[in-house]
Amino acid sequence: MQIGCPKEIKPQEFRVGLTPDAAAEAVRHGHSVLIETGAGLGAGFTDQDYTEAGAQIAPDAQTVFDGSEMIVKVKEPQAVERRMLRKGQLLFTYLHLAPDPDQTRDLLESGVTAIAYETVTDAKGGLPLLAPMSEVAGRLAPQVGSWALQKANGGRGVLLGGVPGVRPANVVIIGGGVVGAAAARVAVGMGANVTVMDRSVPRLSYLDDVFMGKLTTQYASAAATAELLTTADMVIGAVLIPGAAAPKLVTRAQLSTMPPGAVLVDVAIDQGGCFETSHATTHQDPIYEVDGIVHYCVANMPGAVARTSTQALGNATLPFVIALAGKGWRQAVTDDAHLRAGLSVHEGQLTSPPVGEALGLPS
Ligand code: NAD
Repeated sequence: MQIGCPKEIKPQEFRVGLTPDAAAEAVRHGHSVLIETGAGLGAGFTDQDYTEAGAQIAPDAQTVFDGSEMIVKVKEPQAVERRMLRKGQLLFTYLHLAPDPDQTRDLLESGVTAIAYETVTDAKGGLPLLAPMSEVAGRLAPQVGSWALQKANGGRGVLLGGVPGVRPANVVIIGGGVVGAAAARVAVGMGANVTVMDRSVPRLSYLDDVFMGKLTTQYASAAATAELLTTADMVIGAVLIPGAAAPKLVTRAQLSTMPPGAVLVDVAIDQGGCFETSHATTHQDPIYEVDGIVHYCVANMPGAVARTSTQALGNATLPFVIALAGKGWRQAVTDDAHLRAGLSVHEGQLTSPPVGEALGLPS
């Protein structure tokens, strides 16, 4: 199959759909790979890296879209890209159609078959193409939070790990899923005093087991949250209620109960945020202050480490790319119910019931 990978054009998106390693793997399986010139540069991959992997370089996106049976991307196709899609073509990327009626309409009109990364499932009930980005955002959270805690950035001037004779920072992580566990791992590694809160007791048991006493677990009641806020240097919001906006777990009134200069890192901002005072920020201007508390609320945190994120996403997507290219999408989704869960649009039909429900369209 002819696999194409255009350069991402959404603002501030530096990832790329195929790494040179993934391209080489596809070529090894007998496929041809067409990469738009410069597509990998944001993630540190040159055209030469791709040609050495056996891919061909296309001068522009139009050539990639015209010459490919399957398009592999990162972000949802932008309006100009949607006009280049056609019937019989397969699109494999993040789509996030539910809040995006314009994109949904354009994909339906194009006749393309589209499989969304974010709804592909796995045998454990997880989302294997979302999890790598949660891992990245989770590991980044204490890193950016510790930067924000520095005095020059408005923080309270506390070193996460302390020093001998001076206590470490108190880090409270609300939500102990993929993001929360990854954040805990880094915060513990940096020497902080870490508490993870969750509403799932089995999840707290799991974290208690794997961290073997290196952190404290706490059931996430409102009262326990209120108490922990009074001594928190950093609070990381990492909750998710699938399909719903994030619940607001810290109110504006509670900010005044926190130590001045404490930091809130709202990783759940892409679901609306779990702190009342959160609003989305960008990598250019990532923090702001409300009532003396520093807020970091970047909605696409993995973009800060585009190379790591591209490699992590590529590792997760590659087996599906190879299956789709080798068997064709119809056979691939017939053989794999988890990949079938990602099928969102096919030749003018919406095939994702949750998206249909969200947009009031038949599916
Ligand atoms: P997950 O499903 O693995 O974990 C969510 C956890 O939250 C679960 O353990 C759940 O029990 C817990 N939870 C739900 N309601 C709670 C409550 N009221 N109090 C305490 N815990 C509660 O999800 P995840 O992959 O870890 O993602 C977490 C959030 O991070 C999501 O909103 C996701 O969209 C977001 N995210 C953001 C970025 C970014 O760049 N900002 C990147 C990746 C993920």
